[in-house]
Amino acid sequence: MERLHAIHDRALANGVPDIALVDCDGLREIEQNAEGLAALHSPHTAIIDYPGLTDALVADFRAHGGRVRFSTPIKSIDHRGGPTSRGSAIVHTPVDAQEIDHVIVCAGLQPDRLAARSGQKRTPTVVPFFGQYFILDEVHSNTVNGLIYPVPDPKYPSLGVHVTRRIDGGLMIGPNAVLSFSREGYRGLGLNIPDSLAVAADPGFWRFAAGNMATAARELPGVLSIERFVAEAARYVPSLAGPGGHRATRGIRAQAMKRDGTLVDDFVIDRAGATMFVRNAPSPGATSALAIAEHLIGIIDGR
Ligand SMILES: Cc1cc2nc3c(=O)[nH]c(=O)nc-3n(C[C@H](O)[C@H](O)[C@H](O)COP(=O)(O)OP(=O)(O)OC[C@H]3O[C@@H](n4cnc5c(N)ncnc54)[C@H](O)[C@@H]3O)c2cc1C
Repeated sequence: MERLHAIHDRALANGVPDIALVDCDGLREIEQNAEGLAALHSPHTAIIDYPGLTDALVADFRAHGGRVRFSTPIKSIDHRGGPTSRGSAIVHTPVDAQEIDHVIVCAGLQPDRLAARSGQKRTPTVVPFFGQYFILDEVHSNTVNGLIYPVPDPKYPSLGVHVTRRIDGGLMIGPNAVLSFSREGYRGLGLNIPDSLAVAADPGFWRFAAGNMATAARELPGVLSIERFVAEAARYVPSLAGPGGHRATRGIRAQAMKRDGTLVDDFVIDRAGATMFVRNAPSPGATSALAIAEHLIGIIDGR
């Protein structure tokens, strides 16, 4: 309850519209299958069709003369101009090199590697965590009306398994958060030897691991058994225990970590000449993408 009230206070301080604390009866009026002592109701919280959003952004960008190059890995970025000047940047791909006035690097799971290849410091490094999702059979789709989150426990680096009503009306639960053996391992065992060795060779990781055995103990049963995974969500929506469904594609989170093994919660943006490295853009980075873009443009414009 103390943590719930603290989140409420923070939401009010940040001007979250129409946020309200409700007791257990109020919770039942909004979500008849949910259980709890109290809850925070945020009536404007929703999900959107994110591929639709990115398609629209690409269309706008092209309409303004922009060119999009898919499947073109950036190998490195060189600074052109004196050490103190803004200069420009040379962006190297496997097929060409281009001089560009302003470069903004948003490399998701790879920013530390791209920064290192571009002569910048590697830290914060990225530790990948995969998150599994479970989609319930259609017959259970009306169990909840919206998105339901547990009260996050600051002891753990993740939010905890939550319930999402998807754009297509289906019900999804997840994600858990488990150390990934690959930065881009979306299928199968997801084992990538260089990625695993890079994590194991990072002294910060072992300091982090030593302090996070509780997290591993909490998350591992859910990886091994779907029932245990679903049981996490059934703590606050009991009727979810039992229904059938199937596993969905996993997501992989880029968790930034300092040299001493502490995790970086906030956004990290570094600048080197004409290049801006977005080194850590954790959730809600997608929701905030346009606001972050305005912030970055403000930095470039010297605002
Ligand atoms: C499981 C999960 C659930 C999430 N849920 C939410 C949520 O509900 N709401 C929310 O707001 N946020 C959520 N997030 C967070 C959100 O996805 C991130 O904040 C956001 O995607 C970060 O954007 P980005 O551009 O920095 O990285 P990304 O979206 O990862 O994009 C980086 C892109 O760069 C490409 N790339 C990498 N290296 C290179 C290279 N060398 N050359 C060329 N291209 C390269 C990658 O292939 C990728 O396409 C979630 C994340 C995960 C993993």
